[in-house]
Amino acid sequence: MKQWEKNIRQVTPYIPGEQPKMEQVVKLNTNECPYPPSPMVAQAVAKMDCGKFRLYPDPEVSELVGAIAEYEKVPTERVFVGVGSDDVLGMAFLTFFNDTKPVLMADVTYSFYDVWANLFHIPFETVPLNEQLEIEPEDYFKENGGVVFPNPNAPTAIAMPLSSVEKIIENNQDVVVIVDEAYIDFGGQSALRLTEKYDNLLVVRTFSKSRAMAGMRIGYAVGSEKLICAMKAVKFSYNSYTMNQAAIEAGVAAIRDDDYFKKIVGKIVETREQAKKKLTELGFSVTDSKTNFLFATHQTMAAEAIFEQLKERNIFVRYFKKERIDNYLRITIGTEKEMEILYDALREILS
Ligand code: PMP
Repeated sequence: MKQWEKNIRQVTPYIPGEQPKMEQVVKLNTNECPYPPSPMVAQAVAKMDCGKFRLYPDPEVSELVGAIAEYEKVPTERVFVGVGSDDVLGMAFLTFFNDTKPVLMADVTYSFYDVWANLFHIPFETVPLNEQLEIEPEDYFKENGGVVFPNPNAPTAIAMPLSSVEKIIENNQDVVVIVDEAYIDFGGQSALRLTEKYDNLLVVRTFSKSRAMAGMRIGYAVGSEKLICAMKAVKFSYNSYTMNQAAIEAGVAAIRDDDYFKKIVGKIVETREQAKKKLTELGFSVTDSKTNFLFATHQTMAAEAIFEQLKERNIFVRYFKKERIDNYLRITIGTEKEMEILYDALREILS
């Protein structure tokens, strides 16, 4: 090994879901929205003045921050935006988790959390979910350097009631608590209003799922002025221009079209409830999803085998070869037509 090679940072990166290159696939593996974004987004993109791309974008991202602040009914000083919620979460880890005590996270949760912790040399401890794969608030009532969890949790799809979320925050007022609400719009109870009561609470959201904008990379956080100010200081110590001009304009258009947002979320929830029934009829057990995906295990056939056989038919779902969940499939809710193709394939595979 050469001398310089010894100085290379050793990391085990996060593995994103596959983005197959061929067309004609049923893609239910990365929790994207099966519908296009609001037509207002297409209009905003068509009207975009490319001459503006010559200039650096507004480093404060005032237009998008303003639109989000108005939508969430909070002052602009309490909003932080980033390149997808991954960027916002990564920045939050870097800003808030600086203790020698471990950050608490579930053993089965979003698999980026431990990657960031390792990257930033943040000590962490995984807290097992209970037998029903739920977060037990009481398990988080102990000394720690911070707490992070998604609500609803991923990939389990299970939501915690707001009272339980508040219990965790109430018992952890000496550290920053991050609630990742990537999937909240599909039926969970948001903790956003609790940011008025707890100045150590950061709620993180994304445009990638319920607003059908995964490709634009827009995420945001709402917290106390103190938290947001600290995150901005870290951001401006790293990259002043995280948000590009096109994403800013498209993001503003997306958040202003609330009717369309409600319409597509409603459709996905309806398809999800139908999918729960269909999969149950096919011999699966599914958790009570409050997200845009299902977490399912089959009574007789191994998840990995189903995953492989679906893939052979160009149907992509997600499979995690990980302790406790290696017999589960995570299936994104697609259009009704895509789901019909899935049910037909499953009937064939399971027969
Ligand atoms: N949090 C959770 C729980 C997720 O599942 C995802 C999607 N991979 C994200 C955050 C990040 O999404 P994005 O960066 O697209 O906002």
